[in-house]
Amino acid sequence: MTAKLINGNEVAQQIREELKQEVARIKDKVIPGLVTILVGENPASVSYVTAKQKTSKELGFYSIQDNQLATITEEELLKLIDKYNKDPKIHGILVQLPLPKHINETKVLYAIDPKKDVDGFHPVNVGKLMIGEADYLPCTPAGIQQLIIRTGAKIDGAEVVVVGRSNIVGKPIANILLQKQKGANATVTICHTGTKDMTFHTKRADILIVAAGKPKAITGDMVKEGAVVIDVGVNRIGMTPEGKAKLAGDVDFDSVKEKASAITPVPGGVGPMTITMLMMNTVKAAKVHAGIS
Ligand code: NAP
Repeated sequence: MTAKLINGNEVAQQIREELKQEVARIKDKVIPGLVTILVGENPASVSYVTAKQKTSKELGFYSIQDNQLATITEEELLKLIDKYNKDPKIHGILVQLPLPKHINETKVLYAIDPKKDVDGFHPVNVGKLMIGEADYLPCTPAGIQQLIIRTGAKIDGAEVVVVGRSNIVGKPIANILLQKQKGANATVTICHTGTKDMTFHTKRADILIVAAGKPKAITGDMVKEGAVVIDVGVNRIGMTPEGKAKLAGDVDFDSVKEKASAITPVPGGVGPMTITMLMMNTVKAAKVHAGIS
């Protein structure tokens, strides 16, 4: 079998069109407001924040990019967050990670009003996800769920295996797909470096989600015939002749595509969905703020 390619760019574009229409529909009552706070000049962070700002503007948001020097103190950053927590025009606050070492990331993320936590990292939102009452799903896992749904794969009753247990990808996607809800209700297994026999688990997966941060962690012999494979990994494996970073996922694409029924490429799979889900969360936050459905 040669797998169908799951085109994240196409799905993301489709959702962005839907969001654009939604923003136009509600604009007389509320304009979604998003602030992205960037501390320092880490090149990867600059490019992520720039892409988020660009997308939010394209969708018709009120958006602010707040750039701060890497020397900002923790207290000053907390004050800044407090200012945006109180700003009625701002519905979503995103602090781009990582932060400089002298700032406690956990303290900063906890300072964001959970109602404006469009990244879904505040413990209140993590807890709500756990009990099946999430307001905001974290962006990458939410994007993965949307990709699977829009691929037409049946999640209800499926054997889902997640490789990786990080707080930003592995655990939340496992939690999302476990809920007794539409677009979920799967039997979920999580693998990690302590797992004794990875292949035993991965070979049972109808849907295999890989977020290990290791190139070729999954090869064709570890995958069940006909599985849907979602490769979350983004690994820099060298440079292109044009001087750009050469990227690879966590899945050995060439061998796995011969077994899977559908597979995400890297780049162009999960990546484009993450920003789109941030936009979706911001629109939702604005609607909740304005009391409209
Ligand atoms: P992380 O915090 O490093 O976690 C990696 C997880 O994978 C850990 O739980 C680790 O197990 C497990 N693991 C590592 N090697 C393994 C192996 N050989 N077998 C089984 N489990 C293994 O990484 P993350 O933040 O979740 O990110 C994972 C990947 O996704 C990275 O490449 C990252 O760049 C990418 N990512 C992409 C997006 C996007 O938008 N496309 C967003 C976020 C992350 P232990 O817990 O036992 O150490």
